[in-house]
Amino acid sequence: MRIFDPHIHMTSRTTADYRAMRAAGVTAVVEPAFWLGQPRTSPESFADYFDGLLGWEPFRASQYGISHHCTIALNPKEANDPRCVPVLDLLPRYLVKDRVVAVGEIGFDSATPEEEHAFAVQLGLAVEHELPAMVHTPHRDKAGGTDRSIAVIRESGIDPGMVVLDHLNEVTVRRAADAGCWMGFSIYPDTKMDPDRMVRILKEYGTERMLVNSAADWGHSDPLLTRATGEAMLAAGFDADDVDRVLWRNPVEFYGQSGRLELPDAEPTGTAEPAPPPGSFAGNSLLRGGG
Ligand SMILES: [Zn+2]
Repeated sequence: MRIFDPHIHMTSRTTADYRAMRAAGVTAVVEPAFWLGQPRTSPESFADYFDGLLGWEPFRASQYGISHHCTIALNPKEANDPRCVPVLDLLPRYLVKDRVVAVGEIGFDSATPEEEHAFAVQLGLAVEHELPAMVHTPHRDKAGGTDRSIAVIRESGIDPGMVVLDHLNEVTVRRAADAGCWMGFSIYPDTKMDPDRMVRILKEYGTERMLVNSAADWGHSDPLLTRATGEAMLAAGFDADDVDRVLWRNPVEFYGQSGRLELPDAEPTGTAEPAPPPGSFAGNSLLRGGG
C-alpha cells in the first residue's frame, strides 16, 4: 500500500513516527503551516517556522525515505492577533519556493471579521500564484463555518477544483461535494472521524476528490491512521485500486496542481522546473515500487 499523507504536522512528531510511517507505506507528505499551540508574537517567528518547513523538516523526512512538501499561510487562529497579521506581507516570498504546494491552512476558527479578511487575502494569493488552497473548517459550528467558508471561496473567484475543504464529517461532506471542492477528512484516534466512519462516507460518496489524512500534530493523534483507513476499506470490500486512488493518486492529483510535487519514482507533476534540494531522496532505492 503506497500512502501520501496530505495533512500532517511532522514538526510536532518524532523520528520513531517517521520510521513507523515509512514501514506502513507512507512515502510522501504535505505539512501545512499551522498554529503551534504557543501563540507567536511577531512575523519573524513565522518566518523561522516557514524556513523550518522548507529546510530542516524535508531533510529530516528524507532520512526516512519520505518526500516532504508544505503549505504556507497565516493560520485562522493567529489571524486574530494584530501582532501576527503583518506576516501576510511575507507570504509572497515563500509562495514561489520549491515544495510549497498550496496556500494553507486558511479558513475560519472562530469566524471573526479578522479571520475572514486573512482568508480572503490568502485565497487571492493562491489565485495569483496559481496554487491550490488548503482550507481548515472550524471544529465548532462546523456546518455554519463550512457554509461561510464556501461563500468566501466563491467570492474569491478561485476554481473550486483548486480548493480542499478539510476536517469534514458526515454533516459537511455534501456541502463540499456540491461546491465542487476537494474533500479532506482527518482521521483521529477517538474524536471527529475514525476509519470505519470514513469507509461509510466513501461508500456513500465514492472515491473521487476524496483526501484522507491523519492531521497528526502535538495533540492526541496517530500518523498511522491513513494506513488503518486503507485496511478498513479493504475489509469493507473496496479493492486495492480504490485504496491506491484515495491514499495516493488523489493527493498526487490535488497537490500536483502546484507543479511542485517531488515524488519517488516519478517525474514531478505539472509544469514548474524540478530543483531537488541538497539531501534529496532522489535515487533512494527504498522508494522504488511504492510497496
Ligand atoms: Zn492541521
